[in-house]
Amino acid sequence: MEEEQTYSWHSTWTKSTRTGRQLPRCYGSSLVQSSPRRKSIRRSGLEVSAWHHGYPQPDQDGFGYLSATYDLAEWCESCGIGAKQKAPFQMKGEPRWGRRGVMQLNWIFGELFVTPEVGRHVFEPAGVSHRVVLSTKGAELTSVVQLVINDEVNIDCDGLPAEHCRRCGRTKYSVVSRGRFPALRDTPSHPMVRTAQYFGSGASAFQSPLVNHAIARAASEANLRGWTLCPVAHQLSW
Ligand SMILES: [Zn+2]
Repeated sequence: MEEEQTYSWHSTWTKSTRTGRQLPRCYGSSLVQSSPRRKSIRRSGLEVSAWHHGYPQPDQDGFGYLSATYDLAEWCESCGIGAKQKAPFQMKGEPRWGRRGVMQLNWIFGELFVTPEVGRHVFEPAGVSHRVVLSTKGAELTSVVQLVINDEVNIDCDGLPAEHCRRCGRTKYSVVSRGRFPALRDTPSHPMVRTAQYFGSGASAFQSPLVNHAIARAASEANLRGWTLCPVAHQLSW
């Protein structure tokens, strides 16, 4: 079952020794399947971003979802850091998934939503649970759930461009859009975690979701569509 991992600056792909298939991965928006130089590295997790679809609800004043979804006691309206989820997310209706099985809401970069089937068959066996998503009328949606990410991991922020909030004094980092995601400082205690550090610009702040290779493999084998995975720079195996 062991897989060969090959990475390069502009591309990454996984070759399953079981199926023999090359599975291309994305860096940013460019999908590159071949590279003149390949370099094997050991596993250290993958940073996740996904297809963005729809907006969090309610939006009566543009940001009604904030107080409906989050405890804002430690939230800073200037930098966006500190909101803690207190209630299910609300969506306008069932997502139009097409052939995709994973998504993010616009503005909400730190959370992942999947179909209940993907939740049960890909994430639950790996120990990742999910929670309900509601319509704006409070009805449970039947084709979407939110993955639960409770654990955080520190990353190595040396050299990352940072903003310090003048209002609350907290720090957030520029979104990493090139190369590998920064190395982990701690070994994660769970197969899916988020960074303890915040990323973003302006009033947007989020903690990046990360998965281990077992989840990435299960997702590949289930042919999960809708997300991109970027390798984390190696320091610790996960
Ligand atoms: Zn702030």
